[in-house]
Amino acid sequence: MSNYQAPMRDMQFLLHEVFNAEKLWSTMPAVAELIDKDTVDAILSEGAKLTAEAIAPLNRNSDEQGATWANGEVTTPDGFNKAYQLYCDGGWGALSGDPEYGGMGMPKMLQSFVEEMTQSASISFALYPMLTAGASLALSAHASTEMKQTYLENMYSGKWAGTMCLTEPHAGSDLGIMSAKAEAQDDGSFALSGTKIFITGGEQDLTENIIHLVLAKIPGAPEGPRGISMFVVPKFLLNDDGSLGVRNTVTCGSIEHKMGIKGSATCVMNFDGAKGFLVGEENKGLNYMFTMMNYERLGMGIQGVGAAETSYQQAAEYAIERIQGRSATGVKSADKKADSLIVHPDVRKMLLTMRAFNEGGRCFSTYVAKQLDIVKFSDNENDIKQAEELVALLTPVAKAFMTDMAYESCNLGQMVFGGHGYVREWGQEQLVRDVRIAQIYEGTNGIQALDLLGRKVVANKGKFLDVYFAEITSFITQHNENKALNGFVQPLATALEKLKAITELIIAEQEQDKNMIGASATDYLAAFGLLSYAYMWAIMAEKSSGHSQQSDQDFYQAKLYVGEFFIERLLPRIDGHILAIEAGSKSLMTMPESLFNYNH
Ligand SMILES: Cc1cc2nc3c(=O)[nH]c(=O)nc-3n(C[C@H](O)[C@H](O)[C@H](O)COP(=O)(O)OP(=O)(O)OC[C@H]3O[C@@H](n4cnc5c(N)ncnc54)[C@H](O)[C@@H]3O)c2cc1C
Repeated sequence: MSNYQAPMRDMQFLLHEVFNAEKLWSTMPAVAELIDKDTVDAILSEGAKLTAEAIAPLNRNSDEQGATWANGEVTTPDGFNKAYQLYCDGGWGALSGDPEYGGMGMPKMLQSFVEEMTQSASISFALYPMLTAGASLALSAHASTEMKQTYLENMYSGKWAGTMCLTEPHAGSDLGIMSAKAEAQDDGSFALSGTKIFITGGEQDLTENIIHLVLAKIPGAPEGPRGISMFVVPKFLLNDDGSLGVRNTVTCGSIEHKMGIKGSATCVMNFDGAKGFLVGEENKGLNYMFTMMNYERLGMGIQGVGAAETSYQQAAEYAIERIQGRSATGVKSADKKADSLIVHPDVRKMLLTMRAFNEGGRCFSTYVAKQLDIVKFSDNENDIKQAEELVALLTPVAKAFMTDMAYESCNLGQMVFGGHGYVREWGQEQLVRDVRIAQIYEGTNGIQALDLLGRKVVANKGKFLDVYFAEITSFITQHNENKALNGFVQPLATALEKLKAITELIIAEQEQDKNMIGASATDYLAAFGLLSYAYMWAIMAEKSSGHSQQSDQDFYQAKLYVGEFFIERLLPRIDGHILAIEAGSKSLMTMPESLFNYNH
């Protein structure tokens, strides 16, 4: 099934009403002149058209056919080439790129919606331009002017693609132990050798060149993460005039056969003395790569919401059309042999859960995108500093919580279809398989949780939380007396107090118990995510209450219904996570290692 329609009204609501984006952008000289409300709406509607008409229809076949490999070459599924050309011709790859090098300089808040639409249409397809956008961002932030002039324009236009080459067979979460080597050459370049695995788009037939961003160690560099440098390794080396020259010695040895995203080529890449060029300074590669990884991490959250949105749209339609059983409160469709699935509380619970997580997630990713825009475009130093702290704090939450909830949503979408969700025809089982990877790559969700709790919270004794919690507190104080928001403000205040208390408990406990952080991290991230979504639902409710315009009344009313459901039926999960944290690490750590293996 490929009847995805971008949730335009919700996107416009978030930009124009919840975050008042035009007002924010008007304070930012670099974007103020680029966009107004009409331009934003026109971009969104073009994006909606492209993704619904040209990309979504390819998704089913991309799963059936998959990307294929033969003799070092990768062929992408039928139709990807044509759709990719349309994507490039529309300038979508340049949307938020640096205008000095051919980008359009648009804000992330807008770009994130186009990203979501593309992910909703096909994760396999979306990954190719997504990696290019991330690689361009890292180059734009850390490469020399000459390097930017050499690569960026063609990457923004989509003529060349980008990749991110980090993972090795023995070095995944722990990149410090990687062994790819980069040896300095007389001409100032480096010869890279080693094998990288799981490289998304490492080889493909969509672009004429591929610019690999590779992490490797220069002999003599410090051990661990501090000895990693970043290199640009083009598939085709460039002649002095910028035209494509000889083929570099980087080749694709094979592609993975995997659970989902089968149209995305996941490549084993062999570097055999491949010519590479150092980006920035030696041994700062991991820091530089974090620019790309942080971009991709928010992108993963958006990928999750994208897939879950498609799942919801199909499940809601199905639940209204499919008839099974009768309503507990009396027959609803007397002219039919049974009532629609939507009369059953459990089916409604599944759909409302999906919608509450999807819309809460979309609002949260827009909030994080707003902070990224402030960092990039504001000229107020204090605002930039606060936004930087928020981005650091919230990026692991966006990556992990949004993808965890997206996986739950897609599973629920499949369940709404019953047995028909398990068979291929309706596309639900593909969404479950495709979205699963979002919890794993770009740093597993377990690693994100450790980043949040260990690095962002405990390491500075909770200081990073101050800005975020102060903002939530200020919202609570401002709306405490607002009767229309009664159902939102008090539960938000209670959840905030609970999170503050459990944060203090962890900070104190981990002094004695060195396993406390590891034992609490995923529950802490989940509790943090629930609090964040409660805040998002409260700000959406505030903008939705008191509307009487007939034309849009349904939209605002639905927001309030779904928001109320989130607060009453989903936010209470926070208590389970807090109880689990309070139990400490004992029950996790006491069983001897030998007893984990039945054969002992
Ligand atoms: C389809 C696909 C596409 C990918 N694309 C790319 C790409 O484009 N570029 C790229 O470089 N990589 C890519 N990856 C690699 C991906 O980022 C890694 O697989 C991921 O980061 C996890 O590394 P790993 O597989 O080695 O697992 P491991 O690091 O071995 O982790 C195994 C388990 O142990 C846990 N764990 C590990 N260390 C710790 C710790 N210190 N504390 C607590 N728990 C821990 C993890 O959370 C996980 O649950 C891709 C992978 C896949 C499957």
